[in-house]
Amino acid sequence: MVLRSTRVVTPEGERPAAVAVSGGTIAAVWAYDADVPEGARLVDLGDDALLPGLVDTHVHINDPGRTEWEGFASATRAAAAGGITTLVDMPLNSIPPTTTVENLAVKQDTARGKVHTDVGFWGGAVPGNVKDLQPLHDAGVFGFKCFLLHSGVDEFPQLSPEELADALTELSRFDGLLIVHAEDPQLIDGAPQRSGPHYADFLASRPRAAENAAIEGLITLAKRLNARVHVLHLSSSDALPLIAAAKREGVKLTVETCPHFLTLTAEEVPDGATEFKCCPPIREAANQDALWEGLADGTIDCIVSDHSPSTIELKVKETGDFAAAWGGISSLQLGLPAIWTEARRRGHSVADVARWMSQAPAALVGLSTKGAIAVGHDADFAVLAPDETFTVDPAELYHRNRITAYAGKTLHGVVRSTWLRGELIAENGVTNEPTGRLITRENA
Ligand SMILES: [Zn+2]
Repeated sequence: MVLRSTRVVTPEGERPAAVAVSGGTIAAVWAYDADVPEGARLVDLGDDALLPGLVDTHVHINDPGRTEWEGFASATRAAAAGGITTLVDMPLNSIPPTTTVENLAVKQDTARGKVHTDVGFWGGAVPGNVKDLQPLHDAGVFGFKCFLLHSGVDEFPQLSPEELADALTELSRFDGLLIVHAEDPQLIDGAPQRSGPHYADFLASRPRAAENAAIEGLITLAKRLNARVHVLHLSSSDALPLIAAAKREGVKLTVETCPHFLTLTAEEVPDGATEFKCCPPIREAANQDALWEGLADGTIDCIVSDHSPSTIELKVKETGDFAAAWGGISSLQLGLPAIWTEARRRGHSVADVARWMSQAPAALVGLSTKGAIAVGHDADFAVLAPDETFTVDPAELYHRNRITAYAGKTLHGVVRSTWLRGELIAENGVTNEPTGRLITRENA
């Protein structure tokens, strides 16, 4: 098979090209007008952009245990329709959480045969499971998530500062990756905790200072232990200078942010609109501008969804009370158009988007055959019509509870089709039979 487009996004940038696929792998990248070999099927994409399939390393699937929140079939179907070909599932909100090898097996058994995209797993670092970290690493999890404050679910407790240091010391023995929800518990406790429908009150309850302090502490620890730390869902742009300085010093630090921080602003959240609640929170427009600068200069490595749904009853409160609602934004199917809409407005290219949403997250989890249109890589693609627009209708989304902060927004960029190992897994929002694989860390 040969896919031809005037806009093929390779690691060297965008150009007209023809991509030859054989046995699920990219066999060659030819000039646009190269002769198609006899017997090969030509897929002419015209001026639609051919991107590497997106790699979303931050997805809460919640299955088993809270399957009414989300499940492997529904989440990966949404992902496939949105141009994602690989995702990595977070270790919490499912029951059991992914904190032992036995629990990992339960999750893998639940997912097997149901997934429309490739799916890998993060492990969890919780109090008392230091001895489980190496076995989980050997079993193929991509790294370990921890919290520094209450996670939102009681079966996944946070680490104390001592436990955090113990876990990271253990991970540093085998160069494991710690991924951290970085908000300082004391600064959150000390912030005004006012419940009710006013977004400003919710925002004040999760101050930037809590993120900044937690990130500063992590940098100190990562430096001392020479260990790998990844900051999840960065929202506070005030932390960017700290992060940039640590990276310059050679601290093994990576950082992600999310479509909602880059495309939605505190100023536009209506009172009572709890579908916009997440932690850390969506902040002011000026903060958003600084996050985009952080992406442009490489301080922030990647953009991932943090798709974290719940039931509609938990997410939408009659009182509109932000304090009572579940925190999490559902965006799995919309991340690419949401980011592309804002990226193009700010003068960034489709190639930039592919770097942030495919290449960099693949590198974060060490997937050497994902994240690029290059010879030897898996033939995973997202085909995007960059200049077309659509209006978000929650009824057209596949995630289980069809509520989203993006409802009614008009976005640029229609995902025409998604391909996994050379097979069409979604076309114009219609998904095919699940052909995804369960994947593990390379060399596990
Ligand atoms: Zn999350």
